[in-house]
Amino acid sequence: MGTKTYNPYENMVAVLEQAAEKLGLKPDEYETLKYPERELIVSIPVRMDDGTLKVFEGYRVQHNSARGPYKGGIRYHQNANQDEVKALAAWMSFKCAVVNIPYGGAKGGIKVDPTKLSRDELIRLTRRYTTRILPLIGPDQDIPAPDVNTNGEVMGWIMDTYSMFKGHSVPGVVTGKPVEIGGSIGRAEATGRGVTIIAEKCLEDLGMEPQEQTYAVQGMGNVGGTAAKILYEEGKRVIAVSDWSGGVMKREGLDIPDILAFLSDRSKALKDYEKEGTEHISNEELLTCKCDVLIPAALENQITEKNAAQIQARVIVEAANGPTAIEADHILAERKITVIPDILANAGGVVVSYFEWVQNIQSMAWELDEVNQMLKKVMLKAYHDVSNMSKEKSSTMRMGAYMVAINRITTAGRQRGGPI
Ligand code: GLU
Repeated sequence: MGTKTYNPYENMVAVLEQAAEKLGLKPDEYETLKYPERELIVSIPVRMDDGTLKVFEGYRVQHNSARGPYKGGIRYHQNANQDEVKALAAWMSFKCAVVNIPYGGAKGGIKVDPTKLSRDELIRLTRRYTTRILPLIGPDQDIPAPDVNTNGEVMGWIMDTYSMFKGHSVPGVVTGKPVEIGGSIGRAEATGRGVTIIAEKCLEDLGMEPQEQTYAVQGMGNVGGTAAKILYEEGKRVIAVSDWSGGVMKREGLDIPDILAFLSDRSKALKDYEKEGTEHISNEELLTCKCDVLIPAALENQITEKNAAQIQARVIVEAANGPTAIEADHILAERKITVIPDILANAGGVVVSYFEWVQNIQSMAWELDEVNQMLKKVMLKAYHDVSNMSKEKSSTMRMGAYMVAINRITTAGRQRGGPI
């Protein structure tokens, strides 16, 4: 262990190997899953508002297509890199398999700090990136969606650019679009809603009354913000939340709608949030604070061998992708802290993406009740499958989820006569 630097792709392969061995697969049967099927690196020249030219680097990685078209979001982040996008693409393959929707996995990214770009610059960046990855995407090929720092508006620009090249509107090329142009009602909240569905089910399983627990949420983006809001609306006590600038805490429970209203002004950050009885904490303090349920909803590699021994929560529900490093997993398991893995806990987003894609094929729009009920059904079925697998193999929920996923993907590969 020691001072090894974290590489998300190596982390993914290590977990994959453990799960495949536990499942009794021979190395040959899962070797393919260690490599993406296709990787594309693109350069994206953008004329900036001041007349200068900047060239950004972008990626689209397609990990596996045994179970259906590639599917996965696009993130804009200054630290985005190929290894990260490769890991995220693999996690999408596993996630889609865990919730049993007919997709493979992909991911895209641009190395850019979007807060430093004007809206016009962002539009030009997005449109040029779309043309660069255009040969790879399509409603039957590879379907992007929002991820860190991208949203429905960005999906609208991608859909428009793709449609311009095709000569007609192709709404099914992306999901997470605005509802007015073919998006699904309930999609924007789906990831956060799925996290709360899974958290509640897990607490019930552990005999912990959900209403009596305290919750801490790291990250106030779309996923963390929605999860905190739903928990608050359900009358649960969210005692700590944070964003990139730091966190706030109040043991009696934070006023989440007030915090979200404050953050809706994008120039504001939590370090500037002042409220009677609310104290400021660091992100590190949030992760190790005294709470029952910890929901990391920011970026990868937050719970590591350095802080895993200090975590006080009894349950961790991974709303972010890859928040827990493999070394930390072992420490948490020894300490009997239940971890609900990302590929199960945050799958609600891609589940409703699938509903959106189906609605686009049907040229139909479903009602919110229908979407939310079906989301709950799919999430609970996935929880059940993972929980049964982990009981059967006496393993953690993470290993259970990976085993369910690997089993489904390798079976599909075999049935197609492939090398898997
Ligand atoms: N970016 C989301 C994720 O990591 C959603 C992907 C999608 O809807 O395709 O699951």
